[in-house]
Amino acid sequence: MKFLCIGRNYVEHAKELGNEVPEEPVIFMKPQSALLQSNAPFYYPAFTNELHYECEVVLRICKNGQYIQESDAGNYYDAISVGIDFTARDIQAELKKKGLPWEKAKAWDNSAVLGKWQPIGEGLKKDDIRFSMKKNGAFVQQGHTADMIHPFDKIVSYVSQFFSLNIGDVIFTGTPKGVGACVVGDELEGFLGDESMFKLLVQ
Ligand code: ZN
Repeated sequence: MKFLCIGRNYVEHAKELGNEVPEEPVIFMKPQSALLQSNAPFYYPAFTNELHYECEVVLRICKNGQYIQESDAGNYYDAISVGIDFTARDIQAELKKKGLPWEKAKAWDNSAVLGKWQPIGEGLKKDDIRFSMKKNGAFVQQGHTADMIHPFDKIVSYVSQFFSLNIGDVIFTGTPKGVGACVVGDELEGFLGDESMFKLLVQ
């Protein structure tokens, strides 16, 4: 499996990092080795001094496909959750300055955290999903899918023009504003609506 990740999908987040709001989705990938296996400890990586959390809605791909039409995209994912796209922000800043690829900042081992999956039911309103994350018990990010620049079906369609989607792939749909640093000892808890989806201690 692979992770397909969307950058700058919320206007307020693009602004907080001083980025332009792109017309087309910004895409990057993480390999399977980026997955933090459930209940595995998360260790602060030695190569960064500025570890940032990015809490995002994630989609699970349930059907192989490429060149997917937006009108058909809803058939290609069957479950939703929240996750963390961990980012070594200091390394990313260096890479961006030099115009280099982002993998060292984004795609390292255990940089992708996934909450438990919730099957997508009939009643799901894709543009009306609240999600949030707490750090040490206080909200640090609160998002709503209505604020996404590119909604789920557009993302699935767009990425599939470049990359085949395979069963089990996961799409990170972008982070809302409120990204920030974490340190050893911090506890991060992600929510879909009011339901806790993951809890993680930085060690
Ligand atoms: Zn992200």
